[in-house]
Amino acid sequence: MTDQAQNVDPQEIAKFEALASRWWDPTSEFKPLHDINPLRLGFIQEHVDLTGKTVVDVGCGGGILSEGLARSGAIVSAIDMGKAPLDVAKLHLLESNLTVDYQQTTVEDFADSHSEQFDVVTCMEMLEHVPDPESVIEACSRLVKPGGVLFFSTLNRNPKSYFFAIIGAEYVLNMLPKGTHDYQKFIKPSEMARMARSADISLMALKGMDYNPFSKTYSLTQNVDVNYMACYSK
Ligand code: SAH
Repeated sequence: MTDQAQNVDPQEIAKFEALASRWWDPTSEFKPLHDINPLRLGFIQEHVDLTGKTVVDVGCGGGILSEGLARSGAIVSAIDMGKAPLDVAKLHLLESNLTVDYQQTTVEDFADSHSEQFDVVTCMEMLEHVPDPESVIEACSRLVKPGGVLFFSTLNRNPKSYFFAIIGAEYVLNMLPKGTHDYQKFIKPSEMARMARSADISLMALKGMDYNPFSKTYSLTQNVDVNYMACYSK
């Protein structure tokens, strides 16, 4: 895309702006993000020791992952295009006593001014909300130092993920507001792999996240049919 500032869907940003005040309420629409956060941090720390590492959290929202990274010893910058989520994230630092440098910018613009400045890039549950995920992955690759690592998570696209992530989560279990996710924007691991190849990063690990509606808990699994996370190196 030539005008990279356009890789933002204003309707997507508005959805998160409207909910932002409840971001840190673990019983709210953001419950799934709170619940998967320990799994995400565990996966990240399997592949990198965060102590003293510079990390940028892309599409950070209210900062659930950003704070977890900071608590694990990383020096964290975090970016999002939503103003309200960032305001909530900044306010929450007063409660947590952590330090995170929050900025409202696109990842493409941020990469122009912060080329190869980070040891680690995280971009969780964001790619399925942007018009051009390939451009985000390419910008994330520009942000990381050679030898650095990147983490992406998103939703797979197949009948099972439609059933669980949309019908199940939005209509049956009411875990997420209706319209949170657009099936067309889900990304198959093979599609992420192609985007990663053109961004010159290599796959290190791929893990699924499985939700058990009976125990209401998530666990890491080899099964990437619905939610999945990937670790890449540059
Ligand atoms: N990564 C966080 C929040 C995920 S919610 C977590 O997993 O805990 C998705 C976030 O992506 C929202 O905060 C939304 O504002 C942000 N977002 C969507 N499109 C974006 C874009 N083009 N640029 C930056 N942030 C974007």
